[in-house]
Amino acid sequence: MENQSINQMEQRKGRRLLLFPLPLQGHINPTIQLGNILHSKGFSITIITTNFNSPNPSNYPHFDFHFINENLSEDEKSQPNIVALVQLINSRCAQPFRDCLAELLSNVLEEPILCLISDVGCYFTRAVADELKLTRMVLRTSGATAFFSFSALHLLCEKGYLPIQDSQLEKPVAEFAPLRVKDLPLIDSCAPEELYELVDDMVNATKASSGLIWNTFEELEQPALATMGQDFGIPNFPIGPFHKRFPASLSSLLSQDQSCISWLDKQKFRSVVYVSFGSIAAVNETEFLEIAWGLANSKQPFLWVVRAGSTSKSDWLETMPKGFLEALGERGHIVKWAPQQEVLSHPAVGAFWTHNGWNSTLESICEGVPMICMPFFTDQRVNARYVAEVWGVGVQLEKREREVIERTIKGIMMEKEGEKLRGRVLDIKEKATRCLCQGGSSYQSLDSLVSHILSFQS
Ligand code: UDP
Repeated sequence: MENQSINQMEQRKGRRLLLFPLPLQGHINPTIQLGNILHSKGFSITIITTNFNSPNPSNYPHFDFHFINENLSEDEKSQPNIVALVQLINSRCAQPFRDCLAELLSNVLEEPILCLISDVGCYFTRAVADELKLTRMVLRTSGATAFFSFSALHLLCEKGYLPIQDSQLEKPVAEFAPLRVKDLPLIDSCAPEELYELVDDMVNATKASSGLIWNTFEELEQPALATMGQDFGIPNFPIGPFHKRFPASLSSLLSQDQSCISWLDKQKFRSVVYVSFGSIAAVNETEFLEIAWGLANSKQPFLWVVRAGSTSKSDWLETMPKGFLEALGERGHIVKWAPQQEVLSHPAVGAFWTHNGWNSTLESICEGVPMICMPFFTDQRVNARYVAEVWGVGVQLEKREREVIERTIKGIMMEKEGEKLRGRVLDIKEKATRCLCQGGSSYQSLDSLVSHILSFQS
């Protein structure tokens, strides 16, 4: 046994990769998964991470961890403007990241480093890697279609779609059919110019990299992948879905409430609506009550993730109407954070009411669970439109009102339309499974990625 691990260490020698995640849950999960995937292909993995939102290193004894201080105040870390947070991370991490990397590279004789793989959102790594003459690849944790429309924000401005005018929300965006103006990947809490600047920085740093790794698969996003490949002019590696090779539960920043599973065990086959809006999106008090009443009035069992602090004016369930939970009894189960992948693969789950973060969207597709889409910002809007209109595996919730919610839940859980969505999502699930098998598109793309990285050795 001991000999075997010494052998493995020998084989990995000279095959060290550095990974740097953007410190947000939806980015940490795929970065750690990618680390596991590349480790399984014989590479040694070093993770450089901020102290803020760091994954727990004891869950990954096979990785080396190095921590940098991101120099953010508590207020800065918890601010709702996600674009401003990403920009701050980029400006504050540059120096500590550079120092950490320089030190690691000074040990080069002991263990040469083949390349850095950083999140597309960490565009500051471009200047650092250039200065230290380290090859850099990037990981995009969102879908290709969403990144494609993101990268075209300037064009969309020129064509007059942006800035968005309320009277134009339903207008089709001819260049990006079937997106409508309201599906464009913007964010209400920040000025459009702020977002354009961020996108420019991300796109330029990506184009200057030695290759782009995607958590997606050809069968799902072939057109966008092909266009991005041409536009960006760098090698493209769609090797997803990552979580079907390595689950994300160990990189969860919040503790996952396992009571979900014993509660699901008591529910009927495909009877439960699972409701979660990811790690960042928040609803206001009115929306929170509409969601609660919509779920209650639908008469379906539901499992609802309400993150602490995710509704304004309340720490957790304080805004819930008095007696509401008692009246529901066993029909509703509410937790602060769920083991989402386990939940979605549970036979009792019949639909996922989601914000369409990319990980959630992929996880739902891979478990064959149709979606009710309620996007909040940026790529979620594009993903939701594709789920409903292109892949046909979900419906958009048109209004955050209790009657609409009740009708939508009943439609997907009890009517023919729901059956059709399930048929289509099971079809794509099958493709997602096949693309990872020997000869499949992601399987081959991973082989190409390994060869590409090994070519940096010379
Ligand atoms: N997640 C989880 N438990 C929850 C809700 C979400 O483990 O209760 C995980 C989910 O499986 C996914 C990630 O958190 O891997 C959320 O990523 P996504 O891209 O969907 O959304 P974001 O949080 O970035 O908005």
